[in-house]
Formats: sequence, structure tokens, C-alpha cells
Amino acid sequence: MRKINRSYQAYLIDLDGTIYAGERRIPTAERFIKTLQERGLPFSILTNNATVKPEVLVETLAKHHHIQVDVENIYTSTMALIDYLKRVHPKDTFFVIGESALQTSLLEAGLSVADSDQAQHVVQGLSRQVDYQQLSQAVRILLAGGEFLVTNMDRLIPTKDGFFPSSGAITSFIAYASQVQPKVFGKPHRPIVEGALASLNQSVENCLLIGDNYETDIQAGIQVGMDTLMVLTGVSQRSDLEGKTNLPTYVVNDLSEWEG
Ligand SMILES: [Mg+2]
Repeated sequence: MRKINRSYQAYLIDLDGTIYAGERRIPTAERFIKTLQERGLPFSILTNNATVKPEVLVETLAKHHHIQVDVENIYTSTMALIDYLKRVHPKDTFFVIGESALQTSLLEAGLSVADSDQAQHVVQGLSRQVDYQQLSQAVRILLAGGEFLVTNMDRLIPTKDGFFPSSGAITSFIAYASQVQPKVFGKPHRPIVEGALASLNQSVENCLLIGDNYETDIQAGIQVGMDTLMVLTGVSQRSDLEGKTNLPTYVVNDLSEWEG
């Protein structure tokens, strides 16, 4: 097997499909993280998942995947969204559609949340309890001129029982009714990548973005002009690249082929 040997100063690494596959371990990825740690190379684990907090992800990685990382190694779409709210709307009030992790993250960041028409903007992530009343409220806030701020537009969520509708399906409902386009923070959009780079204090040209999903991870890297490495341990396969003009910089079967 030919190993790819080119070093970068820092790494942005997708989570599901890249570091683990649902509940299944990916030992080559576990060894890769260990190598980065042994070499003292900074890295950030990027996830669009807005339903769990970084502390929970750290615990899951340690317990089920033999990967010991710090909370500072995790950067989520929620964190990118909150960075924006603190910068642009620090004094405003937000109506939140999402699971408890999203709402508590806003509150912990010192932002105001209201379950009423007094909210000025809508923040939305995946909610498995969303109902018509909440959707209506979101639409009405947007019709009144609010901003539509969305963690991620993932279409489906993979579970052990198969695929279920994800965050983007809820976004589409609200966007269609309100005719207000969302500002999206997760991959393939730029804010999550730019936020992670800022948190590592690194610039685009020194970093490599690693992910399994051509449409989200690889596109996110391409958007910001970063080199990308696609692994075939998750969603995308080589056949998904056929006919595409923007290709990943590297494609490997798994991370044992990367020497860095
Ligand atoms: Mg993935």
C-alpha cells in the first residue's frame, strides 16, 4: 500500500464516518488521532451534530472508541452559530427549535432565549419533538423580519434503525413557509471551518480537512480553499467523485494510508 506523506501543521477531522461509524469503531482512525497527539500536532474534531454537547462527545470517544481528547478538541456547528450570535446579536432574544443541548448552549453563552413572540430571531437545529405550533412561531418571527440561523442542513440522520429526517428537513419547512433563507453554520458552509481554524489559531494553507462525506466535509474544505482528504470509511465512495470537477486533494481507503 502506498502511503501518502505530506505534513500539515494542523488537522480538522470529521467525526461520524471518519473517527467512528455510528457505534462501530474505526481502529485506523483511533491510531491516527494517537499519532497526532504523540507528535503534538493540533487538531479539531468537527461535527454538524447540534444535539449533543462537546463534553458528551469527549465521553463517548473515551468510553467506546479508546480516544482521549479534550473538550477544546471539539468544534460543533452550535459553537460556530453561537460565535456569530455573540458577535452580531449579543443583546437580542432567540426562539430556539432544537434539542436541549442547543438551548442550554445559548444560555451558557449568556444569550437570551424566549419561547414567545418577543423573540427577534430563530435558531434551529434538529429537534425530534418539533410540532406545528413551534414551526408556526418560527415562521411568524421570520415574517416579522427576524434572522433565520441554522446549525446544519443535514438531510438525513443515520441511526441503528436506519435513516430519519434531520435538521435540514425542518429548515426546509420553515424556509418554504416564510420565504426567508437560512444562514447555515455547519458543513458544507464556511462558518464551522473558519471557527475551528480560529480556535486552533491556524490559517487555511497549513491545515488539512479530513472527512468521509464529499457533499459536506470535502465541499466545506473546498469552500475555504483548504486541502482535503476523503476517507472511504463512511458515506462517500470513489464512485461518488465521478464527473465532479472539484475533487478532494487526497482519497484514501482509511487513515492507515496517511503518514502525515
Ligand atoms: Mg462524516
